[in-house]
Amino acid sequence: MSMTSLTDQVEALLTGPPVLPIVAAGDPVLRRPAEPFDGQLCDALLVRLIEAMRATMHAAPGVGLAAPQIGLPLRLAVLEDAATVPEEVRAARGRVPLPFRVLVNPAYEEAGGRQVAFYEGCLSVPGYQAVVARHERVRLRALDERGRPVDEEIGGWPARIVQHETDHLNGTLYLDRAEPRSLSSTLTQAAVERWAQPTPHLAARELGFELPASD
Ligand code: ZN
Repeated sequence: MSMTSLTDQVEALLTGPPVLPIVAAGDPVLRRPAEPFDGQLCDALLVRLIEAMRATMHAAPGVGLAAPQIGLPLRLAVLEDAATVPEEVRAARGRVPLPFRVLVNPAYEEAGGRQVAFYEGCLSVPGYQAVVARHERVRLRALDERGRPVDEEIGGWPARIVQHETDHLNGTLYLDRAEPRSLSSTLTQAAVERWAQPTPHLAARELGFELPASD
């Protein structure tokens, strides 16, 4: 176990290139519950860290990034989704735009009881996607970057992003919740397009897996 303080770790990250390296599956930092944020970083350093995480998320590109994905065991995540997808995809997946936001110490619980299953991927598991059944709506509790409490219900694709990123802070990867038979390569454009339909119904038939009953 490293004795380096979180401040030292963040300072070291921020002296490197503005786009931070993303940690890949197999690194234990992605499998440990992250520490709650309780002022370990001064305000100025937190602001710089959030900006670096945002730049890294944009460059990837991705719609969310949790601190363990840049090697930091801290309960902090950034989210943003321009949702530039075809209308039929937007409608089927509830993929509405999610303005940039920061979650500190987030937690979620289901709100509504319905599960929805779609393909998703993870910047820490490059080259793959898999179908994950998740709560369609969640109650999100967190703090924002200024320490103000957040308590709101979120649905659609933003709810999926919240669940995926919060799971990272608990040492959970989307693969832990995924339908194993749905696992698909994303290494070529043809592979991406194979299951680019608005819903995974065809993939379920062709690959031989079940979707949630309500779906
Ligand atoms: Zn991820």
